[in-house]
Parts: sequence; C-alpha cells; structure tokens
Amino acid sequence: MADGTTETQADQNVTDGFHLLIDALKLNRVETIYNVPGIPITDLGRYAQAQGLRVLSFRHEQHAGYAAAAAGFLTKRPGICMTVSAPGFLNGLTALAHATTNCWPMILISGSSEREIVDLQRGDYEEMDQLAVARPHAKAAYRILEAQDIGLGVARAFRAATTGRPGGVYLDIPGALLGQVMDEVEGKNSLRQVVDLNAASVPAPTAVDRALDVLEAAKKPLMIIGKGAAYAQCDDTVRALVETLGFPYLPMSMAKGLLPDTHPQCASAARSLVLKESDCVFLVGARLNWLLSHGQGKGWGEPGQKSFVQIDIEPTEMDSNQAISAPLIGDIESCASALLEKIGGNWTKPSENWTGAVREKVETNVARMAPRLRNNNSPMDYQGALGVIKEVMAEHQDTILVNEGANALDQCRSIVDIHKPRKRLDVGTWGIMGIGMGSAVAAAVETGNQVLCVEGDSAFGFSGMEVETICRYDLPVCIVIFNNNGIYRGDGENWGGGEDPSTTVFVKDAKYELMMQAFGGAGVVATNPDELRRTIADAFATRKPTLINAVIAEDAGRESGNIGNLNPSSVVAQRLYPQAKK
Ligand code: ADP
Ligand code: MG
Repeated sequence: MADGTTETQADQNVTDGFHLLIDALKLNRVETIYNVPGIPITDLGRYAQAQGLRVLSFRHEQHAGYAAAAAGFLTKRPGICMTVSAPGFLNGLTALAHATTNCWPMILISGSSEREIVDLQRGDYEEMDQLAVARPHAKAAYRILEAQDIGLGVARAFRAATTGRPGGVYLDIPGALLGQVMDEVEGKNSLRQVVDLNAASVPAPTAVDRALDVLEAAKKPLMIIGKGAAYAQCDDTVRALVETLGFPYLPMSMAKGLLPDTHPQCASAARSLVLKESDCVFLVGARLNWLLSHGQGKGWGEPGQKSFVQIDIEPTEMDSNQAISAPLIGDIESCASALLEKIGGNWTKPSENWTGAVREKVETNVARMAPRLRNNNSPMDYQGALGVIKEVMAEHQDTILVNEGANALDQCRSIVDIHKPRKRLDVGTWGIMGIGMGSAVAAAVETGNQVLCVEGDSAFGFSGMEVETICRYDLPVCIVIFNNNGIYRGDGENWGGGEDPSTTVFVKDAKYELMMQAFGGAGVVATNPDELRRTIADAFATRKPTLINAVIAEDAGRESGNIGNLNPSSVVAQRLYPQAKK
C-alpha cells in the first residue's frame, strides 16, 4: 500500500472487534457501561463513549460491578460492567457473584491476556484463566475468540442473564479479539438482537387450581413478598393480588414499597406474630433462605403447622427448605394474573379474627415506637436519626434509599417506610458491606432520581473513594454517614490491654465530610436530628453531591445489629476474657 489510498479504502470496508462489541451492546439497548479503564479495554471505553454510550468510570471495579448489579435490578435488563484482566476481573467478580446470588441480571465483560500464552502458563501480563475462575460464581460464562462470534456471544450473555431466573454472566474478551478485523457488512449481519428478553413463563392451570385450594383452606394466611416481585415490574398485578386475597403481608427488605409500607395489610410491625401464628405462607418472589430462618425454628411456630405456597420462576427453588404444598412455577406477572383470573369476583377474605389481630399488633407497635423517633438527642441515637430519614422518605417518595451497615441497616430497614416500588437498595442476600456508592451511582444514573444513602461508618469505608466518582458525574446523591466511631460500636477496648485500638474501632470523630469537600461536593456535620433534617433538605434542594457526617453515640449500637446470633461462640471466652458478653 505504497500510496496510502488502498489502505483508506480497505479501512472503509472493515470493522473490528472493538466496534462489533459496541454495536452488539447497542443493538441490545445498552445505554450505560460501568467501567474501570486499563489494558486491554481502555480504548474500548473511549470508542464506546464516542459511539454514544454512557461510560462511567469508577475508582475500583467492585463498585462498578455493584452499580451494574443494581442497574440490573432496577431496569430488568443486564447491567454492564467492564474491567481489565486478572486483578480487575477479580475485583469485579465479587459483584458478579453478588448479582447471581440476588438473581439480578448483570454482564461482566473483562479483557484477558492471550490464550496461547495463558493456557501454557508461560507467564503473560496479568495471566489468569478467567473463564474457569468466573464459572462457579456466575449463572453462565462465555469466551469469544473470533470477531464473527461477537454477536453470538453477546446474545448468549443477554439471554442467560435475563431469561428464567436472572443472574450474573461473565463474558471473556481476550485483548487480541478487539483488534481483529472483518468485513463491515458481514460483521453487521453477524449481530443479533435478543427477542423477548424477559420471556413470560406461564404456570400450568392445574398448579393454579392447587394453589387456590391451599390458599382458600387457610385460616391465618400470610404473604411474604420478596425482591423477585419488585424486580418483576408488575406492580399493579402484585397489588391487585394482595388486595384481592386480603392477606396480611411481609415485604422483604428490597420489596418494601412495592406496596407502600403504610398499606393497611402490611404486617412488618407485627413480624414476629405473623411468622409464628400463620397457618399458611404464600411466598411471592422470596426464598426461604437464612433471611427467613429457612422457614423453621421457634419463630415459625410448631413444626408442621404451616402449609407453603410459592411463586418462583426457578423450578428448583421449590422444596429447597420447607415442603411446598403448591408450587407455582412461572413469572410473577403470569402467576398472579392466572390466580386473579381464576378467582374472578369469587373470594372470601380471611376472617377479621386474624386480620384484626394483626392490625392491632401493628398499630400498638407503631404507636410504641413513634415517640422514640422524635428525640433530639446529641450525639444522636439510631432512632432519633432514623426518625428524620423516615420523614424525608415520606415527603420525597421518589427518592431511592441506599442502605448498608449493621445497626444502620437493621434499624433503618424496620423504621423507615418506603412508599414506591424499587426505591430501596441494600446489602442483598449475602448481607455484604460495600454496595453503597456503586448502588448510589446506578440509582442516580438509571432513574435520574434523588438518592439518599444511609451508611454505617464502617460500611461506607468499603466504597468511600467513589465519592470522587459521584462528584465527577455531579450526581444527586446525599450520603448520610451514621458515624459511631466503629464497627457495631465505637467504644470497644483491646482485650489484651495493648496500645493498639480494639479490632472494631476507628479513628475517633473522623471528619468524613472533608472527603466530599476534597472533590468539590458539599460536606457537612449533623450533631442532632434537627441539623440532620436541615442538611438533607439543603442537599435535596441543590441536588449536589453531599456527605453528611451524622454523629451517633459510640455506645448506641449492638454487636452485629440484629444478627448477632450468627456469630459462633467460644467455650473458653468467658473464662479468658472478663469483657466477653454472657
Ligand atoms: P428476598 O431476599 O427479597 O426474599 P430472594 O432474592 O430471596 O428475595 O428471592 C427472589 C426470588 O424471586 C428468587 O427465587 C427468584 O428466582 C425469583 N424471581 C426473580 N424474578 C422473578 C420473576 N420475574 N418471576 C418469578 N420469580 C422471580
Ligand atoms: Mg459504625
């Protein structure tokens, strides 16, 4: 190509792996990529931005991944995370596993080193067999080796992430693939758009009849609504089902707001009573996992007392803990619609004996809690601070609440009502710390709504550097750090008497607000509930990135929040350490 002309002509007729991948994502309606640049995907991000995708760069892959996972939950389409090879991939893998565990669609696209060298373990740059590492943590994992297979690989990833029970999918992109060229027209023809991404899955009529028989026979029925129902985005149908059946219901934490928590059938404030006394539990998009004590134990009443009916899109979820008398295998919209159709106008709601007793308990407990939420203590306790958050969420119902921590999580979940669907993002099925800033970015970007993060000081530390990301993209995120100087509590001591601080305490009176100021956001301190209310109001009015250092009493928290029972106990601790709790 001595004169250069032929080269230009050739360029016009070819495309390459970079652009095929970008085109395949766009064809499948991807708008945003959550990314950390580096070899070999730096240019992929640049080109994607040039081609009209929004490419948001994070400071650490785990948070880009958590953002993609949250985006999947909020939009019912796979959130896309893009990372570099080995270490970047591993950082993102935690989030992919989190998405899979939570049944959320996400695709982790990672660059990888050259197969010829990696597979012979010759010691390549960031050498790792990423596909093998990803497989046990993902719903599916694929590698694309040829440019003409990019369309196929992306389609496989989209299908696997969404259809049936959603989950995380890993897509391995060796660096060499991105530079491969192929004829432009052939390339275009090789791409595919996945049709009917969230395909309906309709339950068998006999299963619907069986379920209605069991539900009808119940004297003290209870519905438990999980985040699968929030994810399903059939809010009106779920509401119609709840109101037609007339059962008291418990929303799991991310299903809060699917019906407003103030709904007369909501039994959250009578949780112990309904779990113990009910004779039939109807699970809708919720698993009987550890979060529900596997449906057994003292809190669940006598063994054999309850029958279970369950709607789930995943057949193998049935009987995974308790025997399911009436499984409804299908998507929630199809199952709920089939039930409603069969019921027609012909349904007798449970007796007032049951629903009235539940209602009474709810009202008593809510009334008992109310005065505690109105204190103006300084430093604050959890109730006083969360009383303010509760008011804010009632006044600004489109705000998305992100919540993580121990006490900051458990108490916020029970105190703060959510009023609309998918307005609460938290630590999910694993109860992981670190989802905060990634979830906040995704919530702001995917919805445009104001985001309010209620963060334990420890939880915040896992993703705190992403405040720079929040400032860089100027997102309407207000972070409230419940700062009690430590993990669980700030008053722990070194049981060996040495100079090092206790394993569970941090620097006293840390000035977290300066972290936000460092990047141009608003950073302020709130020492009492009135100040907290005022500073949140300012943040919402300006929609500026804001960090409020909310000073909580060091001794306000409990060890491990509400799940201290999960800590193993030592038989010798009582003898060796006078400080050990009885
Ligand atoms: P929670 O933690 O809120 O109880 P889980 O994550 O345990 O919720 O359960 C969600 C369940 O919802 C999973 O078993 C998942 O298979 C199911 N699921 C997800 N999407 C759908 C859907 N569209 N239709 C039916 N079930 C769904
Ligand atoms: Mg703390």
